[in-house]
Amino acid sequence: MSDDKQNYAKLGLYIDGEWVFQASGGTLKVYNPADETVLGELPLAGISELDAALAAAQRGFRVWKRTQAHDRYWALRRAAAFARERAELIAGLITKEQGKPLAEALMEAKAAPDHIEWYAEEARRAYGRVIPARGNSVRASVIREAIGPVAAFTPWNFPVNQAVRKIAGAIAAGCSIIIKGPEDTPASCIELVRCFADAGLPKGVLNLVYGNPAEVSNHLIPSPIIRKISFTGSVPVGKQLASLAGLHMKRSTMELGGHAPLIVFADADVDAAVNTAVAMKHRNAGQVCVSPSRFYVHNDIHDKFAEAYAAKVRSLVVGAGGEQGTQMGPLVKSQRVEAMTRLVDDAVSRGARALSGGGKLDRAGYFFAPTTLVDVPDDALVAYEEPFGPISSLYRFNSFDEVVERANALPFGLASYVFTRSLKTSIDISNELESGMVSINHSGIALPETPFGGVKDSGHGSEGGTEGLDAYLVTKFVSELGV
Ligand code: NAD
Repeated sequence: MSDDKQNYAKLGLYIDGEWVFQASGGTLKVYNPADETVLGELPLAGISELDAALAAAQRGFRVWKRTQAHDRYWALRRAAAFARERAELIAGLITKEQGKPLAEALMEAKAAPDHIEWYAEEARRAYGRVIPARGNSVRASVIREAIGPVAAFTPWNFPVNQAVRKIAGAIAAGCSIIIKGPEDTPASCIELVRCFADAGLPKGVLNLVYGNPAEVSNHLIPSPIIRKISFTGSVPVGKQLASLAGLHMKRSTMELGGHAPLIVFADADVDAAVNTAVAMKHRNAGQVCVSPSRFYVHNDIHDKFAEAYAAKVRSLVVGAGGEQGTQMGPLVKSQRVEAMTRLVDDAVSRGARALSGGGKLDRAGYFFAPTTLVDVPDDALVAYEEPFGPISSLYRFNSFDEVVERANALPFGLASYVFTRSLKTSIDISNELESGMVSINHSGIALPETPFGGVKDSGHGSEGGTEGLDAYLVTKFVSELGV
């Protein structure tokens, strides 16, 4: 048995306040993406565990919705304290199972208590309102209540961050939640859930399952117990789940894919744009829904930008996330390497040139070289399919109108980035971009207090910001005649 396997984690489900280490859905091997060794075996929920989680969530909701916001606040504060105390342990697990460099994993783990505390505070301010009434002795009030038990589905790219936003939002609002965590990267999500469990939540308020994703969603979403769906993942799966939610009249938040344009105008500070863009692009090896992936660079500065960008990319240290000095780790699984190979080979066959990288690295692990493509034709697959990996494709543009049209041409609308020194360009383009988030001259999105979400095929609803709490609340109007 390797050291990694010994030091990994005991993998299980958490249902009705109990850890479950044997389940009826079989098991799944979990791999270390940096060396392809097996880290552990994950028990998977079958229908009986899913039904137990549903019943627990129903009971948990009855208790939790009657728990005062002040007391929910303190439970979340205790969970945040555990998450802060255990950040290094959690970060180590993220790196082992997901692959990202330890420093990035630590940032993710340390952000978790920030998210929890923000939601804890915000839920104490879930104010309603009083509407001037039309009669004497009448009081007309608007009350905001927890929507009910939530089914949430979170992916492997940020196993802690994606889960914590849903768990903290739901629990702060007074909901119970069943979360289907990421099967590829389960241990860090388990440790996050342990922070909430140890904080003393009543049984059934938080339940964690792993399983066959389609089987889990097909069972949970139609259940009359579940009142709200929250999903983060790909556009095709999001569309399926949103349809199922619609069929059963469930509200949903859909945080789906993107293909973010990064636009560099001729008046931009090119060095600053290069530094920021390279860092944003290669975070988590590009496996980020808001990762910039279409680089539109003004013709006047295109070659200067491309040369400096590719030089910086070539200098990135690629290696196992746990190794000192690593700046970019492996991809999470072999299928992602295959997806990158397909996109790069297609672009090159259509005339694109690779200024850096271009293929898989010749070593064990799911490593793909950070790849910078220029002269990419608009009909290359990478120009319209979300790469979700370390591929930067550069395109030239000549005018404001042209770049707006090209940036908005795809069905995605999640994040956009712009570099310019002109206030007018900055204001005009942020008005024109069809995108849920626009960040100008820096990387400024995804904080607990700011809304995070997309438009068009990138989904609907937001996490974070006051909008993130609203997603778990319903509005009730009460009209009282005092007699
Ligand atoms: P995938 O489409 O198979 O799965 C994406 C996520 O959805 C996974 O977490 C998976 O467990 C879940 N999922 C899949 N089918 C499901 C179902 N029927 N019910 C419930 N959950 C389901 O893709 P993948 O190979 O794991 O990841 C690659 C693609 O996923 C990328 O191209 C990217 O677009 C997308 N993705 C997006 C995010 C994001 O943050 N928006 C995160 C991870 C993956």
